[in-house]
Amino acid sequence: MIAIKFDKLGRRRGTGMLGKKHSEETKKKISQSERGKIVSSETKEKHKKRMLGQKNEKSIAWSGDKVGYYGIHDWLFSNFGKANECENIWCLGDKEKFHWAKLENRKYERKRDNFIQLCVKCHVRYDRGYRIKLK
Ligand SMILES: [Zn+2]
Repeated sequence: MIAIKFDKLGRRRGTGMLGKKHSEETKKKISQSERGKIVSSETKEKHKKRMLGQKNEKSIAWSGDKVGYYGIHDWLFSNFGKANECENIWCLGDKEKFHWAKLENRKYERKRDNFIQLCVKCHVRYDRGYRIKLK
């Protein structure tokens, strides 16, 4: 302890703030790595639990969303058939592949009005926030 104190004082007088900063950073690094070794198993366990929690939450949200998504798209397909046009006046797509796209601010409800037909290109752009103009 005495040696450390003496060293700290000596550095402060000698090399100023730069030396002090460096020595404290180095000490921090050392203590962090030592702490890491000691509690590594505990930390790992905590991390694992946290990850599992996140994963569960995510997978629930994910599957819930996907069930809705596929359910609605099956419903759209069986009631209105395959999307076969792009309703975007400003369409720049290749007009080969079309999707049913949910309108912004609408829910995945079984309402035809909540959906529009877009080509793949417009759909991707629409989902990214590009404006479209409907026919
Ligand atoms: Zn289009």
